[in-house]
Amino acid sequence: MLFKQEEINLHTHSFYCGHGTGELKDFAEKARGVFKVLGFSEHQPVPDDSLPSRMPFSDFESYIADIENLQRENNRGFVIANENSYNLPNTDGNENGSEIFILKGSECDWEPRYRSFYEDYVLGEKAFDYVLGSVHFVKTKTGELKYIPSAREFDLNDLKWYVSRYAEMIESGLFLVACHPDLFFGGYKKWDEEAVSASKDIISCAIEHEIPLEMNDLGLRKRPMETNIGLRPQYTVPEFWALARDMGALICTNTDAHNPKDTCGSPENGFLNKSFCLASMLGIDFVRWEADLKTGKILYVKP
Ligand SMILES: [Zn+2]
Ligand SMILES: [Zn+2]
Repeated sequence: MLFKQEEINLHTHSFYCGHGTGELKDFAEKARGVFKVLGFSEHQPVPDDSLPSRMPFSDFESYIADIENLQRENNRGFVIANENSYNLPNTDGNENGSEIFILKGSECDWEPRYRSFYEDYVLGEKAFDYVLGSVHFVKTKTGELKYIPSAREFDLNDLKWYVSRYAEMIESGLFLVACHPDLFFGGYKKWDEEAVSASKDIISCAIEHEIPLEMNDLGLRKRPMETNIGLRPQYTVPEFWALARDMGALICTNTDAHNPKDTCGSPENGFLNKSFCLASMLGIDFVRWEADLKTGKILYVKP
């Protein structure tokens, strides 16, 4: 079955990761009546628990069981109750009766040493419907991993490192979506020649490997930062997305909700959320999604 981008969200986090809140069922309730497909994509824990701000690997089974319960409750009775396009979120709890189809996913931090874990264990043994690919961390001088926007200011070496790590993630071929490709702007606060060339390298790699780049709505909901081109989002930077549009990249969007009330992002000027508004301003057409409702297999479809 074919879904428009307005009908599907594949990026959500919950209490499981420790920096999000809300139970999975609360996200499903908020999505009901707005989206038709909701994918859970908790930050993927790794067996040695080496990544900061992730659920302990020992909780992974209960995360899976939680999703599979929701799939049993919802997926079999899935009907398209509303053929119209998206509805704006209903502040009184989205009780308009539409059904929601649940997918089992996770968001993986790209580290080459976890490649076979993601491929053979998460996608293979645990039969996840999809995995999202991300680069969230940069190493500090003491070797500690730090989340990029709150780490240090990026120098050119950091920028180079980020681009090659991000390209490696894309080239692995494991991921359905390349998430928040412009997260590096949380560390690299300029829009200059170097920023343009880093952006072009990432975008052309995604084009070559035919993977959609994610215009991340959370970047637009966070507090903007001061830069040489004035106040701009920490990531989901319009200049990056204008470049991606001009180069002909495949572009999708997700809300990256970390609490149930953000499941659908926040409505903006009559648009579903801020990224739909930005895409419309920039003349970007998002991909569509083909989901096989028997197997949970999901693929993007060019706009
Ligand atoms: Zn998160
Ligand atoms: Zn992320």
